[in-house]
Amino acid sequence: MIHHTDEELLAAELKIDNPLQQSGLVWALPDGAKFKAIRNLYAYSAWPNDKVPCAMCGFPNHKFGFTVEFESGELMLMGSSCGAKIAGETWQQQENAMRDLGNRQYYLRLLERAKAADEKLVRAIWALERRFDQISRLHVRFRKQLPEAYELLIQQCRKGEPVLEVKEMRENEAAKYATAGQSVPKFVENVLFRHRLQGTGFFFSEDPLLEFQSAMKDIESLFAVARATAGKSTNALSLVCRKARAALEVLGKLVEGVNETPKFFAPRNLEGVSQWLNHLGLRHDLYSIEGQSLCWNDGADTVKIDFPPPYEDAIDHARLTRLSAALQLNETRLVWGRD
Ligand SMILES: [Zn+2]
Repeated sequence: MIHHTDEELLAAELKIDNPLQQSGLVWALPDGAKFKAIRNLYAYSAWPNDKVPCAMCGFPNHKFGFTVEFESGELMLMGSSCGAKIAGETWQQQENAMRDLGNRQYYLRLLERAKAADEKLVRAIWALERRFDQISRLHVRFRKQLPEAYELLIQQCRKGEPVLEVKEMRENEAAKYATAGQSVPKFVENVLFRHRLQGTGFFFSEDPLLEFQSAMKDIESLFAVARATAGKSTNALSLVCRKARAALEVLGKLVEGVNETPKFFAPRNLEGVSQWLNHLGLRHDLYSIEGQSLCWNDGADTVKIDFPPPYEDAIDHARLTRLSAALQLNETRLVWGRD
């Protein structure tokens, strides 16, 4: 078994899809054959229309199998049980080693694409930091000045319920006239107030700046690891790939949140929110809207909170899409199968 450097491993053909194309194949065990190594694994691409037989036992329908190399240079295709018969204990070791190398090669190839990704793109995404900072400040002010309202709205959004509703139970008039034996409910539900909440994406994160920075750090770690893989375990490579994949998802959500924020702070939506809060009767305050401000009156004073909405252009998703395409981290893992 050859010990590959990461560079050699990247180019190595550990897995092939047409084992029949190799030269030097023999279909019977050569006289005095001495097992040298497992040369590669195959997953036959023409399967199940065409099948690869085991050259040792003739088992006819392999999709997955191994190319075995003998000291003489001759090659033979076989399944793992026949391989174990000719190679003894070393077979399992070699099979495991091949599997580990294939695993590492998969991550090396993903990271190789990351190296090739345009770093300018990452800088362009970092430039969005200011926008996330604005939204985080908005959260801080909202939470500080209207803590109850802030909590209630977050709960509502977490429930995935964008409708603000106030209901009461009222006596059912029909119940008075019901004859015996008729089943009529005594009380019915009455909707007093209903407002469809807009811009719920504002509440995706309570601190979008922090989440943005942490996601970007995970993406930068991926670039750093991609530039120097030597000495790092395959698990470490897999971890940075997983983290970067999660980071891209978070970034997508955060961008959506920024883009939805102006909808939350639109006067008509704030009006609905303030009426809902009044219905709930939080403390003895009354909420109202004055221009762009949400006000409340605590009986003695009117407190006015200005939430200057970040009326900037929406963030273009295309940058993120380009980044994930460049990193191609959505690629599904190849199956390392066996017969
Ligand atoms: Zn066989």
